[in-house]
Amino acid sequence: MEATVANAVMTHAPTQPTTVDYATLSPAAQDTFDRLMEQADITASATEYEALMTAAIAITGIGRPRYNEIFKCACPCTCPVIFDADDPDAHVIEESGGYNLGRLQCPTCADQHPTPAEQ
Ligand SMILES: [Zn+2]
Ligand SMILES: [Zn+2]
Repeated sequence: MEATVANAVMTHAPTQPTTVDYATLSPAAQDTFDRLMEQADITASATEYEALMTAAIAITGIGRPRYNEIFKCACPCTCPVIFDADDPDAHVIEESGGYNLGRLQCPTCADQHPTPAEQ
């Protein structure tokens, strides 16, 4: 049995949600979230991008995303879900060019509102 330190830390599973409804955030939090995401989209600095994402994650209270990245659903149904950008069930509508934001559908929309892949 080899227990790693990382695993030990993970055993204290938080009850934080893996998705958050944007509409349930306070107006101030929504505003801050929007600005953080806008900046994350235009920054050319990976360090700054990380910091912006970390702040956005803290504001939403979303549970530990896999790679410290969250997106708001880009589904045409105007879905308000904010989710882990690296969720394997999320659907990529548009790949990001470089290391800024692409457009993703949340897992629920990927299932219920499939968007044809761009050819
Ligand atoms: Zn969605
Ligand atoms: Zn949708």
